[in-house]
Amino acid sequence: MDWFKAALDLLFPPRCILCGVSTVQTIPDCLCRQCWQRIDYLKPPWCTTCGTVVTGNPVHTHYCGACLRHPPPYRRARSCIRYDQPARLLLHRLKYHGDTTVLPAIRHIIAHSGIHDMATADLIVPVPLFIKRLKARGLNQAEILAHQFFPYRAESIRTDILTRVRDTMSQTALSGSARRNNLRSAFQVQKRACVKGRRICLVDDVFTTGTTAAECAKILMDCGAKEVWVLTLARVIVKR
Ligand SMILES: [Zn+2]
Ligand SMILES: [Zn+2]
Repeated sequence: MDWFKAALDLLFPPRCILCGVSTVQTIPDCLCRQCWQRIDYLKPPWCTTCGTVVTGNPVHTHYCGACLRHPPPYRRARSCIRYDQPARLLLHRLKYHGDTTVLPAIRHIIAHSGIHDMATADLIVPVPLFIKRLKARGLNQAEILAHQFFPYRAESIRTDILTRVRDTMSQTALSGSARRNNLRSAFQVQKRACVKGRRICLVDDVFTTGTTAAECAKILMDCGAKEVWVLTLARVIVKR
């Protein structure tokens, strides 16, 4: 069907979903060459536990100061790309506009990120939204991302295990301790029997300070999970 696509491209030249420039030359053609080049993939060296970027030899094992002082309840957290433009715009389009034309770009990013060590999780659990927020938005971006990360494991992606029982303020404007207070008892495990002894991969869109991930991991570990891993598409990298 290459001729068919070629004819379609001639009639309706594909445009970059982010900046609108013609993308006939790029593969996948949802982003232009320039926007692809601005995607910043995260690479080692990173903290073995929380995945934060550190300095040092990329083949060595590193632990950041924060994880040494207070080991988080999750075993490890990884993210594909830096939360910067154009990643910010991609996720914004999905999250607030339900725009699924960004998904081929997201799948391409996942495939090229080199993060494949979460595939052996027993269960994949998207970080839930509060029901009212889910209804207003129409989708949970974490659930959609879980399906992009694990396209062949639909039966392991479970949205009935962890629920958000309390609406919380947006975390963006809050400091570390305010974030923790804001999230305290916001989550609940519904099916304890499913969690017991399982390795669970939590999926979310952005890892900012890790407070949400830690809160979810803690409650899953309290319910008997064997290990919790955290996988996000993007990560906020604080400039030092
Ligand atoms: Zn572009
Ligand atoms: Zn760390």
